[in-house]
Amino acid sequence: MALVVHKYGGTSVADAGRIKNVARRIIKARERGDQVVVVVSAMGDATDDLIALAYQVSEKPSSRELDVLLSTGEIVSSTLLTMALQNMGHPAISLNGAQAGIVTDSSYSRARILKVESQRVVKELDKGNIVIVAGFQGITDGMDVTTLGRGGSDTTAVALAAALGARACERYTDVEGIFTADPRLVPEAQRLDEISYEEMLEMATYGSKVIHPRAVELGELYNIPILVASSFTDNPGTLIHGEVKVEARNKARGVAHDFDVAKITVVGVPDRPGIASAIFVPLAEAGISVDTIVQNASIENITDLTFTVAKSQLARAMEVVQPIARSIGARECVSDSRLGKVSVIGSGMQNAPGYAARMFRTLSEEKINIQLITTSEIRITCIIAEDRVKDAVQALHRAFELDVEES
Ligand code: ASP
Ligand code: MG
Repeated sequence: MALVVHKYGGTSVADAGRIKNVARRIIKARERGDQVVVVVSAMGDATDDLIALAYQVSEKPSSRELDVLLSTGEIVSSTLLTMALQNMGHPAISLNGAQAGIVTDSSYSRARILKVESQRVVKELDKGNIVIVAGFQGITDGMDVTTLGRGGSDTTAVALAAALGARACERYTDVEGIFTADPRLVPEAQRLDEISYEEMLEMATYGSKVIHPRAVELGELYNIPILVASSFTDNPGTLIHGEVKVEARNKARGVAHDFDVAKITVVGVPDRPGIASAIFVPLAEAGISVDTIVQNASIENITDLTFTVAKSQLARAMEVVQPIARSIGARECVSDSRLGKVSVIGSGMQNAPGYAARMFRTLSEEKINIQLITTSEIRITCIIAEDRVKDAVQALHRAFELDVEES
């Protein structure tokens, strides 16, 4: 008997009817002969609602209490799903993160899983139970409840799949799979049958919100195939795995985008050892995550340093950087909060010339100005004006022939 981990997102369990629908899907999987462990998100917008409530009683809710509060969202959905299954005549049991053995570090609201002590889950499976685990949460060695960061149930699911030696992790939401671009921007976007971990990681990190990057990372590390599919249909979805066909690799795979980009440039920085660390260490200590970093070649020992952050962190980042810029003798600090980014991604780009040229030509034909360029081996990213992101995604999708169905 094989073991499979299912994960259902918030919209899939948003109300009683949908919870019963999910229960029926789980029963089908069980009847195919698999043992099933299920990870659930909180119902609908439950997490947002709980956060809003917390801020109604306090301007600065303590992170420990906030994590306990948010963890209840997933407890609600996991118990209701369990009741639905039991009512349909199937033995099932719900476990919260602690009971499921999800042990994390103690960084509240963004805890990392240290280990999964899966004995209890295994014991319940051996008794014939379908095990429903509350996603997004864990417990520290000191028995404090933590949460894994927004969207963290994906990570719970893949971590459990790895710990239990599951044959796959099937992740169900309201989308049909991974598309060559966001279908809301590009109606011709195609669903991909499969995508490699590497490509998916770049897509997820560079703007595709469909799956949490940490979950993909874990999948790759433990070689757990992840199926992304809809809980509302029986369509095949997209398989994220390691063995993507050679043919499919010889192409750009998708265009990712992100509207949430702000840029800071420290102008006229003296070029000497220690400057980058003088700027980025305090930013890191302030909990600001910096994305793209570009330092210019210096002229007469003076250079410019540009980096990007999420828009919501711009004000805070400027507060940190401005005094530093003054103290190191930089000329000024300028920012722009109306940016976005577009990325073309595909492992076929490795060792193949012409992809960057095609991307830049396409943007130039659209009269879109490129502000910054960064690349990895399988990705080219351009930072551009926010109000041109949509045009850029559409033009690039056409230019890279992503609207042509895969054979
Ligand atoms: N409920 C949490 C959130 O909304 C975790 C999750 O859905 O994965 O972010
Ligand atoms: Mg949610």
